[in-house]
Parts: sequence; C-alpha cells; structure tokens
Amino acid sequence: MLKRHDLKYTRPRRLVLRALASLKKPCSPYDVQKWIHAKNEAVHVVTIYRVLETFVRIGIVHRHPCDGHFFLCSLPAQPGHHRFLHCTSCGEVREYLNEALCQAEEQCIRSSHFRVHTHVSEFLGTCAACAA
Ligand SMILES: [Zn+2]
Ligand SMILES: [Zn+2]
Repeated sequence: MLKRHDLKYTRPRRLVLRALASLKKPCSPYDVQKWIHAKNEAVHVVTIYRVLETFVRIGIVHRHPCDGHFFLCSLPAQPGHHRFLHCTSCGEVREYLNEALCQAEEQCIRSSHFRVHTHVSEFLGTCAACAA
C-alpha cells in the first residue's frame, strides 16, 4: 500500500503501523509514542502525527469521528466508504460497507447545495463481547 503511493517504508512509519496493529484500538499520537518508547525506540510525537495523517490520506488508517483517535483500517483492500460500529465499552471499532446507504445519503442532501468534502457514519453502542 505504501509502495503504491510512492511512500518509503521508513522506521517511523513501520513503528507507527506496528503500534496501531498491536494496540488494536483507536489511539492518540501519544498512545502510539508510549508503545514505541516501550520498545526502546524513539519517534517525536510530531513525526507520529504526520505519519498518521499520511496513513489517513492513503486510507490505511481512519481518524475516529468522535474523539479524533486513530486506528488501523480493517478493510484496506475494499474501496468505498467505510462505516463504523464503535463499542463505547471496550473501544473496539468494527467496519462495514454499504453502497446503497451511501447513495441514499447523497440523495438526501442533494437539494441542500451543501458542498460535501467527506462524510462519516458511526454507530455507538455495545459490542457482542461486551454485551455478553
Ligand atoms: Zn476502513
Ligand atoms: Zn466492546
């Protein structure tokens, strides 16, 4: 994915990816930095932030609509608008796609002359594991 976007697999990028993959929930740049420090490595938080922004731009990381935290996309191979199911108890985010919903939403706002840059869709609730 990085290669496709002409991005080198640099040390900070590799560490940020590994941090997100092992933390497994939406994190702030400081959470990522803490994980990297625990591995006896050091990356400046500004660099981490920049890496995260780059990953968001190429679609392998999402920025959480509620709290601005970052998490690894679980459907990177599936193009389209990813929607989120966010468990407020454990923080887990599941993703799904629904093309018909996207079209219905676009239809809804068509007459408003609102210029859309992007849209986010998120359900807040309790995941099956937490509900059990
Ligand atoms: Zn995604
Ligand atoms: Zn949960």
